[in-house]
Amino acid sequence: MVERQLRRRGISDERVLDAMGRVPREAYVPEAVRAKAYDDSALPLSHEQTISQPWVVAAICQAMALSGDETVLEVGTGSGYSAAVLSLLSRAVVSVERIPELVEQARAALAANGVASVEVICGDGSVGHPPGAPYDAIAVHATGPGAPPTLLAQLADGGRLVMPVATGASDLLTVFRREGDEVARRAIGPCRFVPLIGEEGFRPG
Ligand code: SAM
Repeated sequence: MVERQLRRRGISDERVLDAMGRVPREAYVPEAVRAKAYDDSALPLSHEQTISQPWVVAAICQAMALSGDETVLEVGTGSGYSAAVLSLLSRAVVSVERIPELVEQARAALAANGVASVEVICGDGSVGHPPGAPYDAIAVHATGPGAPPTLLAQLADGGRLVMPVATGASDLLTVFRREGDEVARRAIGPCRFVPLIGEEGFRPG
């Protein structure tokens, strides 16, 4: 997976490649699709959610530009897999998931795999998690109509927010970098995610 799906397709951050090689993806995917754990694709979770394609997880982590000492906010815990990868790339991870059953499953999977530096919180991550702010980097694993202003406000100066943004044709994985009161924006490329449902995302239903 690391060589074929990631390195050959432009993932060059060695820390990200190493973390992706160390986290057992099969420990986070549902039993019914465990045989496909290393497929080059997203896989279904319960509640019509998905665990993202490995390349997408790696691309988000690479765009977060982590050196190991950061405090990270993740929105969209899902299975807990990407949180486990982020735990190897940063000092502490707060991960917010809106579906209580997924929160319980992710907490159990992370604990079973000895991941202690991730705190999983149940709630609407479109408005972040103020008690842990400011964050050095934020990853959102669901497509929003734009960068939520509250998430940008919870970024430290120089911090990066990586998330898919809805455009006319497809979703566009985008990096927002906060420099003082300015926010610079850079597109990574097209992608497809489930919607960010919440106060600063899309409405449910
Ligand atoms: N990163 C996850 C993994 O490794 O399994 C996959 C995340 S899945 C693509 C997107 C997740 O975002 C879903 O579990 C969904 O319930 C969650 N989500 C959507 N809107 C949310 C919100 N406002 N706050 C928190 N989680 C949200």
